[in-house]
Amino acid sequence: MLLMVEGISHMISHLISLFVNVIASLFGKNKLSILTYHRVGSSGNAIAMNEALFEQQLLWIKRYFNPIDLTEGLALQKAGKLPPRSVAITIDDGYADSFNTIFPLLKKHQLTATFFISTAGLQEQYLWDELVAFTVINTPKRAISFNNKHYSLISIEERHHCMKSCLEEIKYCSVKKRNELIKTLLNETELTSLNNQFLTKEQVVILSDSGMGIGAHTHNHPILMSEIERDAQQEIQQSKSILEGILGKDVHYFAYPNGRYQQDFDDTHIAMVKEAGFSAAFSTDWGLLSHFNLDRFQIKRFTPWHETESRFVLSLALNYC
Ligand SMILES: [Zn+2]
Repeated sequence: MLLMVEGISHMISHLISLFVNVIASLFGKNKLSILTYHRVGSSGNAIAMNEALFEQQLLWIKRYFNPIDLTEGLALQKAGKLPPRSVAITIDDGYADSFNTIFPLLKKHQLTATFFISTAGLQEQYLWDELVAFTVINTPKRAISFNNKHYSLISIEERHHCMKSCLEEIKYCSVKKRNELIKTLLNETELTSLNNQFLTKEQVVILSDSGMGIGAHTHNHPILMSEIERDAQQEIQQSKSILEGILGKDVHYFAYPNGRYQQDFDDTHIAMVKEAGFSAAFSTDWGLLSHFNLDRFQIKRFTPWHETESRFVLSLALNYC
């Protein structure tokens, strides 16, 4: 019986592999898929991926695709020499799990990734959304008012609902307005301390020295289209200089916060990124890289979330079409 099950799973694996190879040879010539992850493992924040699933996805990438370092992938794509089924990994934001959870798993499986870091987190030890999530989930109060809305916080479901609603209310505000709103929220929740949620400068150096890529992701993680031009420019430039100061070397890549073209950033911001001296920039719009010279300042990425082998692998293979 066991032999039969093993035989079937081997056959399914073989079929998936065949499918990936056919798709890649028909449509995938010189194309680079770039995966985006955020948080992995335990976190008060809802967007964290389960650690076991992340590791499982790394194994599927190794089994069916050709994992490649981002810098090497971009260079080979530009030269027209990218191996078939190429996949690069990127991790956005720079939360503590980037070092504590993601980095050990990448090393264990001999993979590299590029980490896009919002530098305010290096100074404050959190980004605004984690502070909002933490304070709403953990406040001792059983009800709060925020932005003219009243929230009951008796059950955990109510707390999650309140957290999502507060995050939505704040997300598209400018950094200035966002800071004012968070101040009123913290007055209301009476819970303001949040430590060790983010990478430290020393950890950024260790990541870089271990062969991981480091890219910029603005300073405060604003929606660039919500900022006036001068502030947007400052956000982009500042994150680059802070990271270069820490690493003692140039930072070449940038990822737009939230990352959707025409919704979170536009051509004005693309011009700013070029002006700041970056050599490539990444959105979160779904797609891949098929023409470096045309796409280099708005390279599309792919966000994997499937929990089963066949769905994950097939959707990543179809990304080449
Ligand atoms: Zn981000």
